[in-house]
Parts: sequence; structure tokens; C-alpha cells
Amino acid sequence: MPESDQIGDRRNTTTLSSTECSPGQDFGNDPLEVRATDHYTAEYVTSFVEKWDELIDWKRRYESEGSFFIDQLRSRGVRKVLDVATGTGFHSVRLLEEGFETVSADGSPQMLAKAFANGLSHGGHILRVVHADWRWLNRDVHGEYDAIVCLGNSFTHLFSERDRRKALAEFYAMLKHDGVLILDQRNYDAILDDGFASKHTFYYCGEDVSAEPEHVDEGLARFRYRFSDGSEYHLNMFPLRKDYVRRLMREVGFQKVDTYGDFQQTYADDRPDFYIHVAEKH
Ligand code: SAM
Repeated sequence: MPESDQIGDRRNTTTLSSTECSPGQDFGNDPLEVRATDHYTAEYVTSFVEKWDELIDWKRRYESEGSFFIDQLRSRGVRKVLDVATGTGFHSVRLLEEGFETVSADGSPQMLAKAFANGLSHGGHILRVVHADWRWLNRDVHGEYDAIVCLGNSFTHLFSERDRRKALAEFYAMLKHDGVLILDQRNYDAILDDGFASKHTFYYCGEDVSAEPEHVDEGLARFRYRFSDGSEYHLNMFPLRKDYVRRLMREVGFQKVDTYGDFQQTYADDRPDFYIHVAEKH
């Protein structure tokens, strides 16, 4: 089980050759050594954020995602939602459009700036943005919420078990007594267990952006993102195993954790690309 607090296990590693072209991103001399929770703010550089949003068609993303999250929230009578991984605002805007009272938090100021602008340009929504790192969420975000969403494979940015437990405990504390946490993750089990035999390029909304694992070991999943103009960026993430995340959620206090597989993928494959955990507090 990948639970190290330091550099991950680099045995059984698989690495693809890389052109190492990540404009504006700084991974130092050995990108494979970059395994730190704090590094996420340096990875989401403005040019990466802008490029991503230029090419991803929000309408198509709405369609491919369907109403899964909205249905989960409505079926529990949720009214007040905290989006802790706002990113460029896709889910926050969706939640506002669906009538949920929404607060949008993120640890990256670049992301929040983009999200605020996107709120205005997608329906004139004024997002309530809060700059906050999950590890100190209760310090910076106030109030109690019926639901917290942490979507788009965001939890993967935490590199130590201590940070994961701390973040989950902060989420737990901000929920009402019967609140729900919805958190998704990439299916890293498939990548770790089958290595590059199962290596598969993930296409977002057509073929404009592709994501490919460039290096994977039990402590690091380094992905390369390629855009149609030839530019490339990278993200270093921690490869979360599904059952490990479920266990952590239960240990932090969530009483019931249901995990769904997302079968709406562009590849013919019998395994889901993403898992969605729905964790209830009572
Ligand atoms: N949810 C959005 C989406 O689906 O488009 C954004 C997903 S993006 C992959 C991950 C987001 O999580 C980034 O905006 C990043 O800044 C944020 N994030 C990562 N680690 C964080 C932390 N420790 N505290 C707060 N935000 C964090």
C-alpha cells in the first residue's frame, strides 16, 4: 500500500521518454524526484491553465459528465456546497446554475482568477472564491456545508499520508452532521498493476488534449499533457489506490463510502478511467 511520507518506492518503475518541454513549469533537474504536496501551485502555471480552458469545451464536458453529481446532491436534499478544488470553475458554475449555494475554494490563485472570470463569462455568475489549502481549510473557509466536492482528480496532489488525513479531517469538520463528501480519482490501480501494457492515452473532449502517463511507480504518477498546437505540460501526482482512499475516508470518520466507476470513457475498455467516492458522515 502506498503510504510513505517521503520519496515513494522507485522499484518497478516505468518511464516513457520525454521531451521535457513544460513551458513555465519548473520540475528542476530530476522531475521524478518532485514528490511534494506543496508543488501543485507551481505546476498550474497560467499558460497551462489558459491553454486547458481554451481547448476544453465546457458544454461537451457537461454532456460527458451527465447529471451524476447533481443527482447525488439532490437526492440528499443538499443546498449548500463547498467546491474545494475549484480549478477553472467548471463544477462551481454548474452547481450555481443548478441552484446550489456554492463557495469555491482552491489553493492556487491562478486557478481562482480564471474561475472568477469563467463564472462571469459563463452566465454572469459571481463566484464566491476563497484562497485556501485543504490542509488548513477551516482556518480560511467558514461555515458548515451540506456537501463538499473535490473533483477532477484533485486529491492526487497530496503526496504524504499525513496530508491526506489532515485534508480529509478538515473536509469532515466543515460538513453538517449528515453531510456528504464527493471525491473522485483516476483509476491508478489499473496503471500500477498492469503498467504500460495497459498504457492508454486519455483524450479530453475529442482529441484536443491528451494525457499520458510518462512515469509511474508506487509513489509517483507523472503525466504528460499534449495540446494540438504541440505544447506539452506535466503534472506530478500521487497514484492513489481505490481501496486505500476508501479506507482513509472510513478511518477519518465517514460512516459509509460508496464507490462508483465512471464508464463514460472514450476508450473501449472494461475498466473505468475514474472512480467516484461518495462518503457520508452519518
Ligand atoms: N475540479 C477542477 C476540474 O475538475 O476541472 C480542477 C481540477 S485540478 C486537476 C486540481 C485542483 O486542485 C487545482 O486547481 C489545484 O490548485 C487544486 N489543489 C491541489 N492541491 C490542493 C491543496 N492542497 N489545497 C487546495 N487546492 C489544491
